[in-house]
Amino acid sequence: QRLDIIPLFHHILDRFEMNKAEKIYFERKIPDDSIFVMVDQDKITQVTDNILSNAIKYSPEGGKITFQVIREQQRVRISISDQGLGIAKEKLDKIFERFYRVDKARSRELGGTGLGLAISKEIIESHHGHIWATSKEGQGTTIFFTLPLTNRKRGSQS
Ligand code: ATP
Ligand code: MG
Repeated sequence: QRLDIIPLFHHILDRFEMNKAEKIYFERKIPDDSIFVMVDQDKITQVTDNILSNAIKYSPEGGKITFQVIREQQRVRISISDQGLGIAKEKLDKIFERFYRVDKARSRELGGTGLGLAISKEIIESHHGHIWATSKEGQGTTIFFTLPLTNRKRGSQS
């Protein structure tokens, strides 16, 4: 359905802030104006939940998670950055594979099946978007995803 994703993201972040037990701080870099996309609201919520859960799970106590939304020409780009342990460069692409978990021992303690990002990738690609990651070991990880904007009227600036 055609949906303004700005209030949706605020709603999701509000829910995370209410429920978090950990000492985690959320920073929102989200534009005030509406951004309309054609999406399945439940599925985009699932993707955002997965990425935020990871960011919390792999963050140190007192860490900051930055949620940024940038409107580009034909798409909107969302990034979720944490200050956690990071992921080695050669493993970055693999985290989107089914059942892949970076550090088996560490990950087992933290729980999970290794499906969250694989499912997220499937959902984003079914919406004609992209998902990828950048990371610096010891400094943190950023997960990006994009969604195409709904077609605007020719000549319209909004
Ligand atoms: P699930 O999401 O199914 O509960 P999971 O979190 O282990 O389990 P994914 O969300 O698919 O699985 O993530 C895959 C792996 O990528 C994780 O096990 C973890 O090793 C690594 N990873 C994902 N996000 C981060 C992050 N923000 N920082 C560090 N490592 C991460
Ligand atoms: Mg996960």
